[in-house]
Amino acid sequence: MDTKIALIGTGGTIAGQGASDTDLTGYTPGILSLQDIVADIPGMRDYGPYAATQFANIESSDITVYQWIKLAKTVQKCVDKDDIGAVVITHGTDSMEETAYFLHLTVHTDKPIIITGSMRPAGAISADGPLNLLQAVQVARTPESHGKGVLVVLNGYIDGARDVTKMNTTNVATFGSPNTGHMGIVQDGMAHFYSVPVRKHTMDSEFGVEQDLPRVDILTCYAGIEEVMGLAILATNPAGLILTGLGHGTIPQVIRNITKNLSIPVVRASRTGSGIVSKVPQDEDAGYYVSDSLSPQKARILLMLALQKERTANDLERIFKEY
Ligand code: ASP
Repeated sequence: MDTKIALIGTGGTIAGQGASDTDLTGYTPGILSLQDIVADIPGMRDYGPYAATQFANIESSDITVYQWIKLAKTVQKCVDKDDIGAVVITHGTDSMEETAYFLHLTVHTDKPIIITGSMRPAGAISADGPLNLLQAVQVARTPESHGKGVLVVLNGYIDGARDVTKMNTTNVATFGSPNTGHMGIVQDGMAHFYSVPVRKHTMDSEFGVEQDLPRVDILTCYAGIEEVMGLAILATNPAGLILTGLGHGTIPQVIRNITKNLSIPVVRASRTGSGIVSKVPQDEDAGYYVSDSLSPQKARILLMLALQKERTANDLERIFKEY
């Protein structure tokens, strides 16, 4: 018997609809069901059978940590079944990289887990959803897709969950991995890989998911930021804080003054979108950790998962090096 692909629908533009077929920005995401979007895709049947689940139908910027936990458990249940060979999730592109990284760290399997979506709503002129979904199932059926963690497939490219990011507001070529490049290409009905993830994920990840995660917030810094912005975020008592610094994660002095040597972990990341934030001598004085090449939003996910149990400074430094 052929194993099934578990198809999980969560919403986004791939399930969106506009008032007209030329409406590429004012449409509403998360309208059509998974069944609707799969129905007429040419060639889709060749990669079945499928088992479909409508997990949610939302705009992806509304996804919550609670839904991530529920989704991780849903995906884990799927991959634990012998008759499921892979999972393909449809998702809005806005927070796709975050959901992908969350699952990359919390689902334990070597089966392919693919996330796809679209930049143009269903029914729009040159809608990209159907081809993206077809290519996602083609990647899911490619044997080499095993053991690579969660993969994002859009516009003919395959990117790894750790490094992928959305880089353009509306263009179909929005996803890329600025530090590492695309991991592969989808062509002739299959995935072709040119690199592999070297950081820990899925099978090797030490993280599980509980009912709730400690809250970690992000403060984006900018020239002229005032102390009150930092004080406001600290007044909410987060369990950890990501500081999105300028350039090499540089934190303006007014924010340094109130975030150094706190009892919660504070991680310096960068707003530049590429490169590494590495330790500098001043980090010792301030008690800061560094995000390595993780974006602020992914550093937040890693820290939330890490803080599910008590961690020493050495643990946190190790975690930001290994994941
Ligand atoms: N706003 C949409 C979403 O993330 C964008 C998309 O799916 O492309 O749900």
